[in-house]
Amino acid sequence: MSTQLGGQPVYILREGSSRNHGRDAQSMNITAAKAVANAVRTTLGPKGMDKMLVDSMGDVVITNDGFTILSEMDIEHPAAKMMVEIAKTQDTEVGDGTTTAVVIAGELLKRSEELIELGIHPTIIVQGYRMASEKAQEILKGLAISMKPSDIEILKKIAETAMAGKGVESAKLMLCDLVSKAVTSVSEPDGTVDIDNIKVEKRVGGSIEDSDIVMGIVLEKERVHPGMPTKVTEAKILLLNVGVEYKKTEVDAEITITSPGQMQAFINEEEQMVKKIADSIIKTGANVVISQKAIDDNAQHYLSKAGILAIRRVKGSDMDKLALATGATVISSIDAISAKELGYAGIVQERKVLGDDLIFIEKCKNPKAVSIIIRGGTEHVIAEYGRAIEDGIRVVSTVLKDKKFVAGGGSPEIELSLRLRQYGASVGGRAQLAIDAFAASLEIIPRTIAENAGLDPIDMIVALRAAHEKGEKTAGLDVFQGKPLDMLKEGVIEPLRVKTQAIVSATEAAGMILRIDDVIKSAKSAAPAMPPGGMGEMGGMGM
Ligand code: ADP
Ligand code: MG
Repeated sequence: MSTQLGGQPVYILREGSSRNHGRDAQSMNITAAKAVANAVRTTLGPKGMDKMLVDSMGDVVITNDGFTILSEMDIEHPAAKMMVEIAKTQDTEVGDGTTTAVVIAGELLKRSEELIELGIHPTIIVQGYRMASEKAQEILKGLAISMKPSDIEILKKIAETAMAGKGVESAKLMLCDLVSKAVTSVSEPDGTVDIDNIKVEKRVGGSIEDSDIVMGIVLEKERVHPGMPTKVTEAKILLLNVGVEYKKTEVDAEITITSPGQMQAFINEEEQMVKKIADSIIKTGANVVISQKAIDDNAQHYLSKAGILAIRRVKGSDMDKLALATGATVISSIDAISAKELGYAGIVQERKVLGDDLIFIEKCKNPKAVSIIIRGGTEHVIAEYGRAIEDGIRVVSTVLKDKKFVAGGGSPEIELSLRLRQYGASVGGRAQLAIDAFAASLEIIPRTIAENAGLDPIDMIVALRAAHEKGEKTAGLDVFQGKPLDMLKEGVIEPLRVKTQAIVSATEAAGMILRIDDVIKSAKSAAPAMPPGGMGEMGGMGM
């Protein structure tokens, strides 16, 4: 890379750096971003297809979930990565609508290319897009319908829409029931939901219909010793983040044993120490001990003799949930063991579920902890069920936050498209061209839903537009009958926030990509870790 100074090239970047600027940079970025949108487009909607992703280790993920697909793909291009970011933001903010956001961004970029061809400066396009996005928020809010948190039927429908097409059709109603039960039982009166209070436990075996909800916590564990009780009522629970075992001295001392007597003394000392720990546990009055670390054989024996139910090697995240649910403090030093730190649960019980032993901790002090146990034939299906259920949990909690929903099935996008065109006409000038492009871009959602359902996208868009022009604001695409129907009547509804967020993030990402007119890549350092097929060969030497 160089610039000229009196005929002499002046190099400002290290040799091997590459640079693309102006139209080149723009069209390259737009192409990469569109490629990302295209990759997830076929999964959109209730009839969307699945993707099979195979990683370098040969592990397989089969999914319909836009966010999962993008995070599993090894994306390198910087503009493409920005598209992945949209999906990430959408997922963390509202938990659904990731594909929608990415597909809209892709379409915004595609339409902007046409405007650039017409000689409209990207800055004008970005500005028009932003105006349209703001107007869209306003229109969406006007379309939104308020609900009460106690309206379980609505919550179920919202879960159902989010879970559509995720391979759970056969057990959909039952799962929506589990999801809405789980979220409402952990939600606060003001509508906030701490999703960490919902544990999703996946078990291979049985079928999806065997899935269940437990008002409490389920651990994939069994008691450490067969002599221990399988059920403890009025449980006083001790949570330990420290092993119940003999702890070797810190210094690396070598013990030379010269006689059998010494050996015995040494073993005795070890045993004594473990017994002391066990005694201090028993003294607290605890009848359930749950440890994140080990519980050694001797300790198991003592605890079992004292009638205590003990579980070991429990995951840290589960320990946190247990602490929250039972009110116990997780103790991380043997000296800190005391009755004050115990938690409470009405029942702690080991039960067999389809051949597996699980520990159920129910009727907790703080009942705001629930577990959903998902069952399914293979790990792949269970993983996809899990993602569907998580989507369901997320949308239900999202809608509980602001208690507003809109119709789905492409209906808000068609309505927005129509009204944004009217808005564009009122704005006029070059901005109108960008606003019109924005309006047209939103139609990609119903168009894609139709396409993925094997319907004729043009016929469907025409029919949808006609319905909305007649004032049917909630007319969306019924993919089963292949015609516009009132989505409110069909029960296809989504949280308002999923729609507003999708438009905000799509507009931001498109704007960010459009404003870039220069891509300068530094030379790869000589370090060995050069990814295969890297960006090195992409850009020529600009200027
Ligand atoms: P995203 O990742 O964007 O959530 P989805 O594959 O979940 O992508 O598809 C969501 C779209 O499918 C939304 O526009 C939603 O309204 C629509 N949709 C869901 N269920 C139905 C249905 N039964 N009929 C028509 N459209 C539906
Ligand atoms: Mg979805």
